[in-house]
Amino acid sequence: MEQPKLPDLETICPHCGGSGYVTNPVWIEWLKKRKQNPDLPMPDEDEEVKCGECDGIGMVPTEAGKALLDFLYMYFIPAVERKNEGKARFYENQR
Ligand SMILES: [Zn+2]
Repeated sequence: MEQPKLPDLETICPHCGGSGYVTNPVWIEWLKKRKQNPDLPMPDEDEEVKCGECDGIGMVPTEAGKALLDFLYMYFIPAVERKNEGKARFYENQR
């Protein structure tokens, strides 16, 4: 039997274009200020920083992806917690 097809769950992050990194705002500011002051020393920070929108993944969930995350949050996480509680009880009984 053929599996039902899921819609696209993620898409390229529009903030970083999929690289997962963006230009450090400190550098953007430095580039602006350098126009007036060409002797301004370079920032002592990395030129690229992890994208805050996708946390460096380069992809973000679509609306369908967000719905799946909500579904997992509702059913999967409680199931894992129940399973882990069962394990915790198992180990306590071993003592
Ligand atoms: Zn991003």
